[in-house]
Amino acid sequence: MKPRLIRKASELITEPHERAAMRHAGRLVAAAHAAVRAAVVPGVSTRELDAIAEQVIVSGGGRPAFKGYGGFPNAVCASPNEIVVHGLPNRRKLLAGEIISLDIGAEVDGHYGDSAWTYAIGEVAPAVQRLLAVAEASLYAGLAAAWAGNCVEDISAAIQDVVEPAGFSLVREYVGHGIGRVLHGSPQVPNYRTGSRGPLLQAGQAIAIEPMVNLGAAEVYTKKDGWAVATRDGSWSAHFEHTIIVTGGEPEITTFVMA
Ligand code: MG
Ligand code: MG
Repeated sequence: MKPRLIRKASELITEPHERAAMRHAGRLVAAAHAAVRAAVVPGVSTRELDAIAEQVIVSGGGRPAFKGYGGFPNAVCASPNEIVVHGLPNRRKLLAGEIISLDIGAEVDGHYGDSAWTYAIGEVAPAVQRLLAVAEASLYAGLAAAWAGNCVEDISAAIQDVVEPAGFSLVREYVGHGIGRVLHGSPQVPNYRTGSRGPLLQAGQAIAIEPMVNLGAAEVYTKKDGWAVATRDGSWSAHFEHTIIVTGGEPEITTFVMA
């Protein structure tokens, strides 16, 4: 999502009780992803996937964080094929060979978890398989660079150095973000070098890292519904995101749980 810059990074260092709420929210997001991952088969609609995710979050004691955010009507952003982010769930049945990006957020006691994943429906073309593999690898490269003492630009560079040499492009208009007491806060976490080192990462700071990777060119536009963001050239796009708490070493991924 497009970050709304509400707080300074220094104000987003989480307290222990806040990290506990973020872990709870993150577990619910991870559980929602596990549930939709199992349901992503040919013939399912994104409206059905939205309902599954919402049920998991609510039954686990959370609230779907995107529902009502900026007027967004659903629990999940469902973005198939050439849709990059912010797609509205609908009744259309997904077909084998397509891809679907599902972005899921949960709130527990005023604290947030936010994670997106792109799933293949049945068998997809080799170029699309590679798009998904490279985009996922770029997320993990960004996560590996997110330790206290590094700067935001180190995350951006790590992502860019996986995606662009592989021949894919990175969306510029949407970026990762600070998270914690707010869904979208400072700092912005671009998925490409900006030429500025950016803020220093500090232990206890929570951020969401979320590369959006296009098979073709980087340019995107907003569709007529006012929500869905699509690639200008119609090429397919993948989106992978985790929420993390920065430490002196490997980050704690709040939206990841072992299966
Ligand atoms: Mg997200
Ligand atoms: Mg996000």
